[in-house]
Parts: sequence; structure tokens; C-alpha cells
Amino acid sequence: MKKWIILLLILAIGFWGFDASRSTSTTDKHPQQNLHIFHGDLRLINNQFAVDETTIPNDIKLATEVVQYAEISDATTEISKRLAQHLNAMLKDAHEEGITNFAINSGFRDFHTQQSVFDQFGGNVALPAGYSEHNSGLAVDIGSTSGPMGVSDEGKWLAQNAWRYGFILRYPEGKTDITGIAFEPWHFRYVGLPHSEVMFTEQWVLEEYIAYLQSNGFYKTTNGTMISYYPSIEDAQEAVKNLSDYELSGDNQQGIIITK
Ligand SMILES: [Zn+2]
Repeated sequence: MKKWIILLLILAIGFWGFDASRSTSTTDKHPQQNLHIFHGDLRLINNQFAVDETTIPNDIKLATEVVQYAEISDATTEISKRLAQHLNAMLKDAHEEGITNFAINSGFRDFHTQQSVFDQFGGNVALPAGYSEHNSGLAVDIGSTSGPMGVSDEGKWLAQNAWRYGFILRYPEGKTDITGIAFEPWHFRYVGLPHSEVMFTEQWVLEEYIAYLQSNGFYKTTNGTMISYYPSIEDAQEAVKNLSDYELSGDNQQGIIITK
């Protein structure tokens, strides 16, 4: 009888430990917990690859509570607190350079809200539930109160500088055949550094960057950061055995990207 109690205790502690580790942020450096294909800042989300519902962040707040240096167009707009922190750092620097007329038009959308947008506006304007980056908490629509983003100072500043803060202009001009989405000068996606810099420098959209990593196996940045692709969890597990201080992200398909 006692043996059973001890066994149950071990199981309970083990399960609790596992559960606690799952709740850690995907940005911190606890790779064992993040070795997951559908998690991470580099996961590809588009009309082919949906957001895994288990990855929805647990730090969703009202934008009015966590976003600074921008108007919030709709008071019900929600955003991931972590994303807001990166956004605030970016908008603060823009403000210091005199670029101040920012408006946040959309942040996090849950699957239900996304489906309503899709049902209301149709497939030419919106994506069905799960297939929008807004469902992941990693995307934000930034507008300007001084004019259309494509021509405003806010849009121009972000197009040139967002990469410094880990953001990419996700649907640029001239890439519609790859992204499947027309030019959206307002939609920014967080991928983190150095990836945003690589994509800005190479003029790659996320589809191209992930495809390059998958086919080439790695990308080495000019300052020596190695970004490596492993086509399965098992390969990635093997690779991280002797590594420390690295970051992981799934590609939302089958593999893992290790940044070291
Ligand atoms: Zn958007």
C-alpha cells in the first residue's frame, strides 16, 4: 500500500513539474521546455500553416493598459504583454525622433473573433480562424493618424527601423505571390533578433527565410550568430545536448531552428 502512495506522489510531483515548465515564456532560455514544432517566434503562420491552439499566450491584456506612445483605435483591442514591451521600445525611439502619430488598430485576436472577421469580410480580406498571425499574439497592425501607412512618416520609419526591435514588415510590396497577402504596410510580425535583421538585409519574407533554412540547413550572420535548422525534434534534441545559451523555435511544420 505504501509503495502505491509513494508512486502516486512521484507521479504527482512529476506532473506538476511538467505543467509548471509548460507555462514558461517561449522567449526565455529554457530550451528543453521549448523543443516544440508549433511554438516559438519563428513559426510560419499563413494560409497553409495554422496557429496551434495550445500555443495561445497567457499574457493577453487590453492594449489600453500595456501599449505606450500610440493611440488605441478600439478600446477592446487586446495584445500580448510581451509583444507590447517590444512595441513600446520601438515606438519610444520613434517618438524621440519626432515620429509620433501612431495608432494601434489590431493586436491579438482569439479564434472566435478571427472567424467573425472572416465570415464578415471574406477570404480576400481576412483569413479563417487559426490561420492569421493575429491569433498567435505575435502580430500587430500599426496605423498612422497622419495618413495612410504606405506614405506616412510613421509607415516609412517602421519600414526602415522595425527590424532593430525584432519586427518584420510581414507582407511587403512585390512578395504577394509568396505570402499570398497583398501589401500591408501596417502589419508587423515579431520574430526577434537577429532574424528580423537577416530578413531585412536579405529582403526575405518569412516564407523565404524558413525555406532557406530548411534547404540550406543554416544561416550565419555577419557577427557570427549561427542559425541552424533541424528537420525533426529528435535531431534538435541531439544537437542541443552539448549546447548552452541558445534559443529555439519551431517552424510550425516539422522542424526546429536553433539560434546560437
Ligand atoms: Zn494584421
